[in-house]
Amino acid sequence: MIHKASHMTSQALDRIAPSRTNAMTDRAIALRAEGRDIISLSVGEPDFPMPAHVKQAVRDALDADDTRYTAVAGTAALREAAALHFARDLGISVPAGQVIVSAGGKQAIFHALLATLDPGDEVLIPSPWWVSYPEIVRFAGGVVVDLPTTAAGGFRITPAQLEAAITPTTRWLLLNSPGNPTGATYPAVELLALADVLRRHPQVLVLSDDIYAPLRYTGGAHATLAALCPDLAERVLTISGVSKSHAMTGLRIGVAAGPDWLVRAMGKLQSHNSGNPASLSQAGAVAAFTGPQDFLIDWRERFRARRDAVVAAINAIPGLSTPVPDGAFYCMIDAAPHMPRFGDDEALALHLLEHGVAVVAASAFGGHDGFRISFAADEARLADALHRIERALA
Ligand code: GLU
Repeated sequence: MIHKASHMTSQALDRIAPSRTNAMTDRAIALRAEGRDIISLSVGEPDFPMPAHVKQAVRDALDADDTRYTAVAGTAALREAAALHFARDLGISVPAGQVIVSAGGKQAIFHALLATLDPGDEVLIPSPWWVSYPEIVRFAGGVVVDLPTTAAGGFRITPAQLEAAITPTTRWLLLNSPGNPTGATYPAVELLALADVLRRHPQVLVLSDDIYAPLRYTGGAHATLAALCPDLAERVLTISGVSKSHAMTGLRIGVAAGPDWLVRAMGKLQSHNSGNPASLSQAGAVAAFTGPQDFLIDWRERFRARRDAVVAAINAIPGLSTPVPDGAFYCMIDAAPHMPRFGDDEALALHLLEHGVAVVAASAFGGHDGFRISFAADEARLADALHRIERALA
């Protein structure tokens, strides 16, 4: 059959849907441009301004005409700084040559999966999951295997669940701790138990997305597989960055550390895609990784206070409930009692948008009957948003 060229998209593209976090945020921006008063709790980004020393580093780079191509995998200075970050903050000791810098963590994940998946390869993803994981897997021709988790189980998978899901064609396990959208955070003891399962299945790679590591509210050191189990380091790729920690989402810098073969494979793809990440953003990220880190504790405590206020307010609204997230800055809210009125959670999210609050339906994350909010907004906006949600559901 001959198609009209203007209507032809690839099979790979037709397998995926647009990002629903980004779609809702774009919608909120468009409504605001029309003059509507919309509070956006749909996207996860800190409302704090980027730290002054990072701004200065970007200005200095501009003044120094640091505006040319850099090495595809990032400048030597940034790869060194990122290696320092992996060792200091995540306990992962890795040479700078096994670090790649990308245009946001999302690009690193995209390249890792695209560089390793063949059609039919299975990828295990605990749900609720971050919106882009399954879409990237499907785009790359992989098969998404859902590992459902529950609020009662802390939104964490068990070793038995992992063991039962692995087949000879399993290629990846995606772990995100602290997790988006639930805040689920794996303690070391649970990661060690998952590692025991993984040792029995050498075909399985692990993508450990640790982008929210600085935002843990439970105390103790951050636990991550590559640090806990050096014997698995040859098949663990750890994702980190400065977007969430240093309020630099728009600068688009993510970093990944992993085995040499995989980092090279990702670099090969990156060389034909974006090439290097933006030079000025890289200069800012060097300052973020090597500059003062103590303000991160103040920021985390402000997020903790917001979390506590938001969780209490949500649980006081009839028909809404949320567990206390251990990390990140999202609440996954159950709204099942309201579902008969709306039909599905997308309709509920649109209803809330009509009442001036942008949220993302739980189904975007492989969940159901609820919605996610980000509490990375200032206290007054959060309080206003929660009143609007209460009125909208009354
Ligand atoms: N990761 C953030 C979120 O989930 C940013 C938006 C996105 O890329 O999905 O809101």
